[in-house]
Amino acid sequence: MSRLLLLGGITESLALARQLPAHHIYSLAGIGRIPTDLTCQVRTGGFGGAEGLAAYLRTENIDLLIDATHPYAAQISQNAATAATLANTPCWALRRPGWQAQAADDWREFTDWTDLIKHLQPFKRPLFTLGREPLEHLDEIPEQQFWTLRAFDVYPGNARAEVIGARGPFRLEDERELLRSRAIDVLVSKNSGSSATEPKLQVARELGIPVLILARPELPPVARQFTALPALIESLREHGFLAGSQVQ
Ligand code: NAP
Repeated sequence: MSRLLLLGGITESLALARQLPAHHIYSLAGIGRIPTDLTCQVRTGGFGGAEGLAAYLRTENIDLLIDATHPYAAQISQNAATAATLANTPCWALRRPGWQAQAADDWREFTDWTDLIKHLQPFKRPLFTLGREPLEHLDEIPEQQFWTLRAFDVYPGNARAEVIGARGPFRLEDERELLRSRAIDVLVSKNSGSSATEPKLQVARELGIPVLILARPELPPVARQFTALPALIESLREHGFLAGSQVQ
């Protein structure tokens, strides 16, 4: 029976994991919620780099490795490609396209935290939707700025920062309320390409607010790349990894 290892951590990987029979394995880094209602096996935590992952592929007799991790989780994607080569196991990747700026949008790309701080200088009330990284800089907020941060979990703010704990999907009207109530004058975001977090971009467009976008990391080439889940599921069916499942 052909067996696959699915590296996950995003909505689409969980949707695929829900369709996997019991002999397949779904792997998570272990920093978010761990689903307890899946038919397939679930494992959590790192493998110990590319070599550790290659050893796991051999030990568990994995026939196909699927990298369906977040587009900014570049380390595990690199490890997956390297491990696949080391273990002589094919690697497929689900890589959703980034969002595209529309005609009237004012998007400015930044490359790292230092670059972001330079871009932020003209603004007073940024909204960060970058995950946990801004939390490490709460004692470095310039005098003229008040930061609003949104992360997965609630975290204490300070006199010049509010931290909101919230997980998507986010509704357009709620994003409107958030940006208006905090008088946000610039949005800071990754370009995840996820529809669950896209409404904030619509609100920035409506309010004429610039968006500072973190450049996407380079990801390694793999045997096959898919931009959407249905095409990946179809190919898994064709190759006998999914029997009789329905695309959702
Ligand atoms: P990363 O920097 O690429 O990976 C760091 C290390 O975490 C990897 O080297 C690996 O450890 C372990 N790891 C990552 N994903 C794993 C998985 N699915 N199964 C087992 N081990 C895994 O990743 P990250 O940016 O910290 O993200 C961690 C996880 O959160 C990813 O799985 C990603 O899909 C998810 N996520 C990330 C973001 C984001 O913005 N980065 C957003 C939403 C969800 P070893 O080297 O020891 O194997």
